[in-house]
Amino acid sequence: KGPDGNYTVTMIAGDGIGPEIAESVKTIFATAKTPIKWEEVDVTPILVDGKTTIPPDAIKSIKKNTVALKGPLATPIGKGHVSLNLTLRRTFNLFANVRPCVSIKGYKTAYDNVNTVLIRENTEGEYSGIEHELVDGVVQSIKLITYEASERVARYAFHYASENGRDEVTAVHKANIMKMSDGMFLTACREVAKDYPKIKYNEDLLDRVCLRIATDPSPYADRVMVMPNLYGDILSDLSAGLIGGLGLTPSGNIGRDASIFEAVHGSAPDIAGKGLANPTALLLSSLMMLRHMGLYEYADKIEKAALSTIAEGKHITGDLGGKASTKEYTEAILSKL
Ligand code: NAD
Repeated sequence: KGPDGNYTVTMIAGDGIGPEIAESVKTIFATAKTPIKWEEVDVTPILVDGKTTIPPDAIKSIKKNTVALKGPLATPIGKGHVSLNLTLRRTFNLFANVRPCVSIKGYKTAYDNVNTVLIRENTEGEYSGIEHELVDGVVQSIKLITYEASERVARYAFHYASENGRDEVTAVHKANIMKMSDGMFLTACREVAKDYPKIKYNEDLLDRVCLRIATDPSPYADRVMVMPNLYGDILSDLSAGLIGGLGLTPSGNIGRDASIFEAVHGSAPDIAGKGLANPTALLLSSLMMLRHMGLYEYADKIEKAALSTIAEGKHITGDLGGKASTKEYTEAILSKL
């Protein structure tokens, strides 16, 4: 927080539709008089030792501000390119990926009562990247679970529940089969639960949760689900599907050294530069960011304006079945602020 009362936050507009949706968020924040000063950084990859990486100034800015809002980054395909998203995750120890999925009024999907929050361990598990061929035709891939990382993500899940008025935490697992690894994940969750006596704690099997959430998502409202990496990757996209896909889904990457909030969708090269993109997912991510910073009032005010604009259906973008441009949708939100 600076002497002028504003918090400086790093803004990575990103590629493709990134700059268009970032512009929309900046305009909305300015009109809502949100106490945020943006520090814009360019993450166009630079070449270091024959490998692409993120420019040091961008890293410096996120390190200093500890909070960033990020647009989509196009992942180049080919040799020598390291995923920039992965680089950010490693650089800032982004250990928890938070994905809320809430039904949006005015956008009809199979269910209108989805309200899930999923917290995924983001650094190890099945995605540790330890794979090798033992002998010809036999490959081994190692799922690495540490007590430290499990405890860290469990603690964040309980913290998130208590900060966001959710009274239950469910650990999702397959400890019936992965007895030692998921077993230890559960031990860590049970230990952390003791520190949060006001929050109910329970455990459920991943396959059962998938079946039940697709049949009726309502029992999963008002709680937080926490789980190892791969389970979270799949279950969070399943939940996004319940509210109509990735276009409306925000996310937060909570880290030891910084936290980065971003839309789940990509750079949408097919509509980039045409002024047609829907900025809602990035806007909802920026509201997660405000709540992470304790700026609840601003988040609530902007959320109300955006969701009522969608519910009215007069100024919605093409992906939601409307005809409005990014600018027209943004202006409809501004008029409510
Ligand atoms: P995409 O999400 O960019 O697009 C899929 C479809 O959804 C397209 O038809 C697109 O027009 C539409 N869409 C996505 N976001 C939209 C929005 N806000 N408003 C309206 N329509 C929207 O996925 P893709 O085409 O598979 O990926 C394109 C690029 O984005 C790739 O380079 C990929 O690596 C990258 N990507 C980045 C991230 C990230 O930075 N977190 C995530 C996913 C994909």
